[in-house]
Amino acid sequence: CTRRLHAGLLEAARSHGERTALVDPSGRHTYRQLLARAAALAGRLRCAAPQPGSRVAVLAPPGHQFVSAQWAVWMAGHVAVPLCGAHPTSQHRYYLDDSQSAAVVGTEETAEQLETAVADSRLPLLLADGETTAEGEGGARGEGEEVGSREDSQPAVILYTSGTTGPPKGVVLTHGNLLSQTRDMVSAWQWQPSDVILHTLPLHHTHGLINALACPLYVGAKCVMLPSFDAEKVWYHLLDTVSDPAEQVNVFTAVPTIYAKLLEHYDNKSRNNFAYQSFVKDVCKSKIRVMISGSAALARPILDRWEVATGHRLLERYGMTETGMVLTNPLHGHRVPGAVGRPFPSVSVRVARFEPGVSGYTTLSEADGSGACTVTPGCEDQEGELLVRGPSLFSGYWRRPEVTAREFTADGWFRTGDTARLSDGVFSILGRTSVDIIKTGGFKISALDVERRLLEHPEVQDVAVVGLPDLTWGQKVAAVVVSSADLDLAGLKQWCGDQLPPYAAPTVLKVLPQMPRNAMGKVNKKQLVKDLFP
Ligand code: ATP
Ligand code: MG
Repeated sequence: CTRRLHAGLLEAARSHGERTALVDPSGRHTYRQLLARAAALAGRLRCAAPQPGSRVAVLAPPGHQFVSAQWAVWMAGHVAVPLCGAHPTSQHRYYLDDSQSAAVVGTEETAEQLETAVADSRLPLLLADGETTAEGEGGARGEGEEVGSREDSQPAVILYTSGTTGPPKGVVLTHGNLLSQTRDMVSAWQWQPSDVILHTLPLHHTHGLINALACPLYVGAKCVMLPSFDAEKVWYHLLDTVSDPAEQVNVFTAVPTIYAKLLEHYDNKSRNNFAYQSFVKDVCKSKIRVMISGSAALARPILDRWEVATGHRLLERYGMTETGMVLTNPLHGHRVPGAVGRPFPSVSVRVARFEPGVSGYTTLSEADGSGACTVTPGCEDQEGELLVRGPSLFSGYWRRPEVTAREFTADGWFRTGDTARLSDGVFSILGRTSVDIIKTGGFKISALDVERRLLEHPEVQDVAVVGLPDLTWGQKVAAVVVSSADLDLAGLKQWCGDQLPPYAAPTVLKVLPQMPRNAMGKVNKKQLVKDLFP
């Protein structure tokens, strides 16, 4: 009873047959092997969760079991909810409850963690390569069947947002959304079957799941997956010139925190070692075709230091769980530091100002993937909220219709909550309107701009700039910096006064040994303010 599936990503995987899809710590895995294992698991999944469209949570270390599990969920006609191994049990429970998952897929490695999470709910727990425990019924019945007929409009995954501004929200992405997001990146970054990407990102997030995994698997490329981030191992793979050339990494994508950690490692190793410095640069320049950064603002010193070390100017892009990738610097051509370029092929964007009581939003500038770009006369360089439209946009927040309705304008544009500006034909992100745009004494300041400047100070290793309530000014600017304990605070304050306009210089400074960042390297600024400035 095999019916043809319509899930575009699965169809693509089928066409790549005997090619190698993954290289993980257990070895090489072809597309055909992964699909065969997925089909076997799909049979067991349909027994454990017979209702089509059931949510199935997946927790597997990055590698073949994760990929087979995700495909199995789709083959069974269900919706995948990827979990994050670094999260505590309470957060797993939150995702399982919120998504109303009907079954959980784990591996030998994650089973114990999952058993604790499902202890009360008695959800069936299936091992990607093995048996079903608890309520579920393992075994051969239905093995190998593919009965779920998936349409483009049907949900494929629920991804939870990073939780930077509040509790994570379940974002429902359809098979059509995933296909559109993937095709946009394949086209903009010219993914080829001969590409080999080094994957070192969590899989519960759009960056690791779609950008770094769906794209290579869609075109029949190879994905070298590391079980977790390890600076030494990442450098090892980036600099490997010994393996078969067909397995040498030529594409890399990461969050800014990862680039910062890689640079730390590089600095230690390359200090006074000129031979190593030129080796790194020569290998990276000759072997790697693109290195991409996103998920948070890329600080200028990281961009510059990375370029000095590797000869690559990082390609910064901007996107969200809800929208997929929205804006990108060009693969070829000038990449403007601090800017995130232009829309992906299928995406349209607007920078707009909300005018309460008048006509809703006034468009300041707009652009789309065709290259068209218009600025309303008199609104050049003006900042406003970034609005997005196109086939990549999610179908809604899971079980939160009122939030979904609130986040769309009357004419169907998604409100990103980010402030952006179009200047000289490229977009810049100034930060989240709610926490990064600080209003002080009538001035509007971008926290990201102030952070970029502070990072130029040699003693500042990391920074988060926030607005604090102030009776006189409305808000005052505070900076939480990571530096050594003996940092000269008065000197830094003076330096800020010299470098920044008086209204933007932080008047409150706090030093931390480390910045609290989540699994995606993001700072929850609301929480930071609560914790540090109660
Ligand atoms: P939550 O919605 O739960 O608060 P989140 O918005 O951080 O969390 P994601 O969907 O992972 O969850 O992140 C999208 C956000 O990341 C964007 O809205 C934007 O603020 C930020 N972002 C992504 N790329 C960039 C970039 N290149 N520069 C600046 N900000 C970026
Ligand atoms: Mg968000």
